[in-house]
Amino acid sequence: MPAVLGRASTEWLKTPGRCSRSELLVLDERAPVETNSGELALMHRFVVCCAIGVVFALASPDKGTLAQVDPKATAFAAVDRNSTEIGKVGDAIFSFAELGMQEFETAKLCADILADMGYEVETGLSGIPTALLATYGSGQPVIAIHVEYDAVPNGSQAAGVTERKELVAGAPGHAEGHNTNAAVWIGAAFAIKDAIEKHNLAGTIKLFSAPAEEQIISRPYFVRDGHFTDVDAAFHAHVGSSLATSYGVRQYAAMSVEYEFSGKTAHAGSSPWTGVSAVDAVKLMDLSWDVLREHLPPTQRSHSVITHGGIQPNVVPDYAKIWFYFRESTYEGARHLYERAHQVAQGAATMTGATFEEHVLAAVWPTRDNRTVAEVVQSNIELVGMPDWTAEEQALARRIQRAAEVEESGLRTGTSSLSEATQSTSSNDSGDITWTVPHGRITFPANVPNVPFHHWAAAIAEATSIAHKGSVAGAKVLAGAVIDLLTNPELLLEAQETFAQEVSGSAYRSLLPAGQEPPIDLNAEEMAKHRELMKAHYQNLPIRFR
Ligand SMILES: [Zn+2]
Repeated sequence: MPAVLGRASTEWLKTPGRCSRSELLVLDERAPVETNSGELALMHRFVVCCAIGVVFALASPDKGTLAQVDPKATAFAAVDRNSTEIGKVGDAIFSFAELGMQEFETAKLCADILADMGYEVETGLSGIPTALLATYGSGQPVIAIHVEYDAVPNGSQAAGVTERKELVAGAPGHAEGHNTNAAVWIGAAFAIKDAIEKHNLAGTIKLFSAPAEEQIISRPYFVRDGHFTDVDAAFHAHVGSSLATSYGVRQYAAMSVEYEFSGKTAHAGSSPWTGVSAVDAVKLMDLSWDVLREHLPPTQRSHSVITHGGIQPNVVPDYAKIWFYFRESTYEGARHLYERAHQVAQGAATMTGATFEEHVLAAVWPTRDNRTVAEVVQSNIELVGMPDWTAEEQALARRIQRAAEVEESGLRTGTSSLSEATQSTSSNDSGDITWTVPHGRITFPANVPNVPFHHWAAAIAEATSIAHKGSVAGAKVLAGAVIDLLTNPELLLEAQETFAQEVSGSAYRSLLPAGQEPPIDLNAEEMAKHRELMKAHYQNLPIRFR
């Protein structure tokens, strides 16, 4: 029955992502049972040759053979083939080092590269000029990948230099490594596109860039504006020092709120009684909140800065501004802090005679990750493994750790095992996405262990081979996990079922006030101070994925 063998062989060649090593190895035993006589020898030899070819290719995933049969191998080969380009994306964004909402060079670079790959690119998503949505493929399932690419204030630092050396004094820099998030995102985007194209896979990829993560701004707007209603699952890639994932609730909810007080000017020496001090109202609000702390749950975190505190003492100030972050472990908790703060602001206004306006700049849910998606990510982490670090890279990592005055343990060499997350008191604006669709997060090893984010030393490795290799590993894990969900409908169904159980009893609703618009002028003034001088350091090498 040659047709049986023919069908079996064809299915094997065409069925994407379903051939495990063990399945391939038994094919030459299984095939002869289903065939006969003259054609047997020929077909048997064909199957054995294919199996050998596949095994050979498994050992060398960058050779073309396996790419013909396995979408994931196609994707991994695409990442390897473009590893230099992935590094160049990260290095270019490192040199742009743009603060949140001002990521114009970064967004343009990413939009151009993604359009060149064949993605359909939309800019200005949710009214945010530096937000992109790039789409490829068609039909179901719809898988989203989102990353942030903003820098941090005062983070300017020469790459690879293990003492404080700003590229531009006082300028922003990638002192966390969000530049590598974008490198992983773009590397995976090309690899997934290549696999979809070469294996005729059904499904749509939606890539979101998420401006101003450092001020937790953009992603709740994407969710509110309906950009995730057709999404079946989503992934977030973020720089770290390990190749790791987890499941469960990982971070805190947060609200970022400004309070602007208005009063009445007067001569502070001759007739202060005719004035109303807006600064007094700010001081009373700050003090009152600190008094209230004793009676707030110990799980809360709140912090403030006075961003406008008058101009000179002999003028009673008619304007002042204070900016708070309110963080709690739940949506309800963050909302409660925000409502108490409104009462405190009201009290400060009443005491001084000032008036006030409040502006919610950002409001995010805690981040959480789905167990099924985490298992998919973990299986790809184990498949890809940590980069092979050279002795020079290990030595650089130790020098960076010494510069940051932390334990000199070098770079990690082993992957992390899957674990339940411990909720941290930090926040990320991806929280809203993670309560809307099954979600997985990939931490990739493009930075150095123990070095605290936002310290200048956390920028040193971010445009070196440590960042490049970590980004390549991250891009493979991300592409592999997306391909698993694209090619295994039952896995996606399981993710959606476990997600429904995990979030039952917590109906998602946005923390953003109705009609809230994103603060698109955020950081404009600060960025304008440095941009011209920073241009001398821009890396604008041509980048072409192939
Ligand atoms: Zn970050």
